Amino acid sequence: MLPSCGLLRPDAKPWGESKMRFMTAHTSTPTHQPLASHFWAELNTRDFSALDPSRTVAVLPLGATEQHGPHLPLSVDTVLVEGVVKAALTHLDVADPVLVLPTQTLGLSTEHTAFAGTLHLSPQTLIQVWCDIGASVARAGVKKLLMFNAHGGNVGLMDVVARELRAQHGLIVYSSSWYNLPIDSSVMDQFSTDEHRFGIHAGDIETSMMLALSPERVTMSAAQNFSSTSQDRAKHYAILGNGKSAKLGWHMQDYNPQGAAGDAAGATALKGEALVHSAGEQLALLLKELVVLPLSTVRV
Ligand SMILES: [Zn+2]
Repeated sequence: MLPSCGLLRPDAKPWGESKMRFMTAHTSTPTHQPLASHFWAELNTRDFSALDPSRTVAVLPLGATEQHGPHLPLSVDTVLVEGVVKAALTHLDVADPVLVLPTQTLGLSTEHTAFAGTLHLSPQTLIQVWCDIGASVARAGVKKLLMFNAHGGNVGLMDVVARELRAQHGLIVYSSSWYNLPIDSSVMDQFSTDEHRFGIHAGDIETSMMLALSPERVTMSAAQNFSSTSQDRAKHYAILGNGKSAKLGWHMQDYNPQGAAGDAAGATALKGEALVHSAGEQLALLLKELVVLPLSTVRV
């Protein structure tokens, strides 16, 4: 039986299942009724007039389509960002005014362009696209935007776009990448200190998450402990190798010619599930904080 008043069905699943049914409930128009869906594209244009502008948060999932070594598909960063968002939604109530925008599946992947299959958008294009999406969010009357990311290459542009949207539309824009969320230390401790520092691409962490989210796309027979040249520099250079004081403008082949860094051979679905679950929990908490954050946070 369907719940009343435009509520999302509790068993509703994002991405890949469009069978969600929910009441439209347009006959009565309470000021701020619960969302018909947590997905922006599943609302209809009239639903936006019922949003509470002081509370509603739009989430822009940012992924990439880029090489991830010999054992993982190009879709990793997109699968991961959607997996964490999906996990977060299970912790949200239908009354939580959070709207997930369409996932951006192409990102800034300059550092992976030497590898076949990588789809790369220029910085100029991405800044324009994300700014245009932000402008559309503002036009819909939504004043809070979270850019939620799974690809390290996107981070620099997220900073730029957040400030542009603040300047041009007075939006409250936060940027966050799943790996910077305060994930439970017992979950993070599943991975070695070296893995956290050097396993930056298609290593134990990303491979474990893929084994949890999309195991049919993982070729474990090709997974190895992929070394990184930055491990050598860390041993020989006190400042440029300390991982904090200086940053190399690297391309992936500078680290490893196979396009991966980290102990992918040590990956397990169990570790990945714990990571996705904990990241989802923390993202849900972040979203709840954003919902109650006052609009006076930015002064326009
Ligand atoms: Zn990745």
